[in-house]
Amino acid sequence: MSFKLQGKVAVVTGGSSGIGLETVRLLLAEGARVAWCGRNAERLAASLAEMRAAFPGAECLTQACDVLDKTEVAAFAAAVEARFGGADLLINNAGQGRVSNFEQTEDDDWVAETRLKTFSVLHPIRAFLPQLERSDCPSITNVNSLLALQPEPHMIATSAARAALLNLTHSLAHEFSARGIRVNSILLGMVESDQWRRRFAERSDRDQDWGNWTGAIAERRGIPMGRLGKPEEPARALVFLASPLASYTTGAALDVSGGFNKHL
Ligand code: NDP
Repeated sequence: MSFKLQGKVAVVTGGSSGIGLETVRLLLAEGARVAWCGRNAERLAASLAEMRAAFPGAECLTQACDVLDKTEVAAFAAAVEARFGGADLLINNAGQGRVSNFEQTEDDDWVAETRLKTFSVLHPIRAFLPQLERSDCPSITNVNSLLALQPEPHMIATSAARAALLNLTHSLAHEFSARGIRVNSILLGMVESDQWRRRFAERSDRDQDWGNWTGAIAERRGIPMGRLGKPEEPARALVFLASPLASYTTGAALDVSGGFNKHL
């Protein structure tokens, strides 16, 4: 079965590493033309070189862009329009989580986390909406976290902001249905990626290797599948929801957590 993405134009925010980069890879493998952004120009260039080597002749565009900067996002959208004529799929993936409990979270941290989770999605949606409205298969797919439904006290601000994003995604799905634009999200558990590599680098037990360290987290946290996810696993869920294969699905939140969901 094909995702029906040949020649379609996909935009992935935060595409230079982790889940975003695996999503870019899968989209290119499916024949889509893909634009992606990130803040760090060097990392972005490295991801472009890697994709060009893996998919010679593929149509790619990268642009350094902070999704919290409205002007930079507008410039990114203009570049996509100039190169490809417009976007069909927008995948909002850029971001990171904040590890802190109530005592450790200052007012400014709450503002920053709320701003990140909200405007990392709103700015790209505003900028790409005119292009999506011209598409014959428009979709918006947001990367969200299981924290939206299952808050964790040690990630208090991220959990609250994730819940707001889930709520916002649902409203947008309903409002944009009239314009033919589907809006969905995925809810992640713990997925191996640069965020976890950074935490691994700061681990207290230096004798633990990556496999032991992630395995111990899975066991301690009670992930039924006994492991963290691989970035290509949420990437497949994202590409499915964003693709015309999911043509009758909007307002959905697809769980990609290895069974870590404890709610019905
Ligand atoms: P990575 O750190 O590997 O990738 C994050 C990507 O987003 C990078 O390309 C980064 O590039 C980019 N990015 C971050 N902030 C911005 C910004 N303001 N503007 C533009 N690009 C940005 O992390 P993951 O792959 O793990 O994370 C992907 C998404 O999944 C994030 O939103 C994260 O919060 C979410 N998530 C991940 C979980 C996990 O366990 N891995 C769990 C729950 C949610 P650069 O730094 O150069 O800007």
